[in-house]
Amino acid sequence: MTRKKPRERGRSPPRDVSKSESRADSQNRAGDGQGSAAAGPSKLTPGLYIVATPIGNAADITLRALDVLARADVVACEDTRRTAKLFAIHGIRAPTTAYHDHNAGRAGRALLRRLEAGAAVALVSDAGTPLISDPGYRLVAAAVDAGIPVIPVPGPSAVTAALSVAGLPTDRFFFAGFLPPRQAARRRALRALAEIDATLVILETGRRLPAALADMAAVLGPRPAAVARELTKLHETVRRDDLAALARHWADAAGPPGELVIVTGPPTPREATFDDDAVDAMLRDALATMKATDAAAAVAAETGLARRALYGRAVALKSK
Ligand code: SAM
Repeated sequence: MTRKKPRERGRSPPRDVSKSESRADSQNRAGDGQGSAAAGPSKLTPGLYIVATPIGNAADITLRALDVLARADVVACEDTRRTAKLFAIHGIRAPTTAYHDHNAGRAGRALLRRLEAGAAVALVSDAGTPLISDPGYRLVAAAVDAGIPVIPVPGPSAVTAALSVAGLPTDRFFFAGFLPPRQAARRRALRALAEIDATLVILETGRRLPAALADMAAVLGPRPAAVARELTKLHETVRRDDLAALARHWADAAGPPGELVIVTGPPTPREATFDDDAVDAMLRDALATMKATDAAAAVAAETGLARRALYGRAVALKSK
């Protein structure tokens, strides 16, 4: 069997990058262009620049990002046509090349060769911060391994934008990316997330929002939450309520919700009480792959409920 290549956006084992710390003088390299604007664009210090771009409002781009993009030898884009629109708005004429999930291997190697030859390469995604549920991880990892400076040019991200307006605790948060699209896997993922003592930030598509919220309400219990939609765009809205009420709202809502982030408050002591439907759902999921005794034990470990009572319930569910 051939080994599967790591997906560009996927999770990967932690890497030891301690031996490859960037030198402090790489931190502000892009800033040096600001003072020299009158003399025309000068060459950027070589390295890989990870540049955040707007998530909706084209004005949400930093002066430094504009400077780096204008002076890069090449800008690697998730979608060159999309970046061309941003460039047109801001009068940027830098050369672009495609770098996305489907060509990351070949395009990544070509970019690495350019970086090794001393180029300044900027990486952008369609919107927000590259690598945050977006392409770039493998390129950054390869650059780090090759000893090439990797320089952040921070700016917008839907993750921090949603978190900043949700009205939920921000002292600790967990970014979970996208939930699995299928219900059984999604509920399994949510049960693992339920253990985390932090606000949860989840990306979701408009089409799957009602089903995702219903599962979140069933598995996570009555937590406060917010659905932040179309941030920085014309129809920006943030709806705040508990998960069950949000699920009801979106089950009935007309029209596509657009781009959105779900932010959910951390577990509260109230969640120690699981409602019967939630327990049944957990048991059904467990019964799909386990016998009744094991399913009862697994749900008991997850909820703290009595194993004997859960076993009785599991047997009843099985015989239905
Ligand atoms: N790297 C991006 C970032 O930092 O914002 C996230 C990329 S991810 C592929 C795209 C997801 O981000 C969308 O499906 C949606 O969940 C969220 N998103 C992007 N733009 C948004 C916006 N303007 N308002 C709300 N959510 C948004």
